[in-house]
Amino acid sequence: MQQPHRQQPHPNNISARHLHSASRLRYDVLSGEWVLFVPKRFDPAKSYDFVTVPPQKVSATTCPFDDPQAAGNKAPHFWLPANQPLSQWRVQVLENKFPALEPLEAAGYSYVAGADDLPGYGYHDLLIMRDHKKTLGSYSEERVGEVFEAIQQRVHDVMRDTRIYYSALFQNQGPLAGASIAHSHLQMISLPVVPRHIRHELLHAASFYTKHHACFLCHEQTAHHAAARTLYRDAHAIVSASYTSREPFELMVIPRVHSASFETASPDVMHGVVRALHDALHTLEEHGMTDYNWYVHTAPFHGLRSTQQRSYHWYIRIVPRFTRIGVDAGFELGTGIQENPILPQDAIAALKAHKS
Ligand SMILES: [Zn+2]
Ligand SMILES: [Zn+2]
Repeated sequence: MQQPHRQQPHPNNISARHLHSASRLRYDVLSGEWVLFVPKRFDPAKSYDFVTVPPQKVSATTCPFDDPQAAGNKAPHFWLPANQPLSQWRVQVLENKFPALEPLEAAGYSYVAGADDLPGYGYHDLLIMRDHKKTLGSYSEERVGEVFEAIQQRVHDVMRDTRIYYSALFQNQGPLAGASIAHSHLQMISLPVVPRHIRHELLHAASFYTKHHACFLCHEQTAHHAAARTLYRDAHAIVSASYTSREPFELMVIPRVHSASFETASPDVMHGVVRALHDALHTLEEHGMTDYNWYVHTAPFHGLRSTQQRSYHWYIRIVPRFTRIGVDAGFELGTGIQENPILPQDAIAALKAHKS
């Protein structure tokens, strides 16, 4: 497979015919926040709105992830393929060298209901892919599938610790996404608490369900305006730009069968999600959007009520990162209302127009 095409600066091939111009305020059901679309501020003739940076230059000889153990990292929890010696690893899962949270058994950690100051109990894992030069979008679909096999295995291991309520799974790809090491890797931070974004989404999804007798994300897929925002669809998963995309070219990978939890996804659903995620990342990379964050949003491990099972729908969100000039940062910080210069249907039209 071809390496992603990189240029700098990159205008992302947006042409004026894809753009609508009126401002819109849209309410995001899941987060409970408003998003302000200001497409008239986006000038496709200029490239400064969306500029990517050159890929990080880390020589393979100094890369700490080419041979993680030789670089002073701990032995892996496990590696794949499982039937091969460690020297043949393609994906390895290990504790972060400088973990944000640790399973401090000796401290006799136990969660006290209502506490607002806790020891940093938890797990901070890395999932490292073998190839120094490849990204998830440039790996084969089969290799991405292997990465997800490793993720599910690690989530199942961590879930056995009943003190853990939520595993935040994410990737920072490229310097604009906050990656400190160029070599492609994922992180998983497992917490003894449920983060705010998840608590809010659970709450808002449940109230949508009560009002409309439907899961919001199941319902969204059938909305009359969904087709124009859809990049990819097969029997198991779709890739679309949310009606309330907070960031330019933001994409969501949504399993089509309703389920609250990532870790219970069947192999068929997982294959579909892997295919969809791979297609989405590959498309973004082909458009020069080589810096991105993606993360999984899923239900907490414990304490889920039956309404939440029915109303919450797990998904992956991909957020390409750019140097954005002219963004109203103070407005966004002060109000929680994010400004996005490109409407989701325009973003999808632009990505589809040059899809290879
Ligand atoms: Zn490397
Ligand atoms: Zn659903």
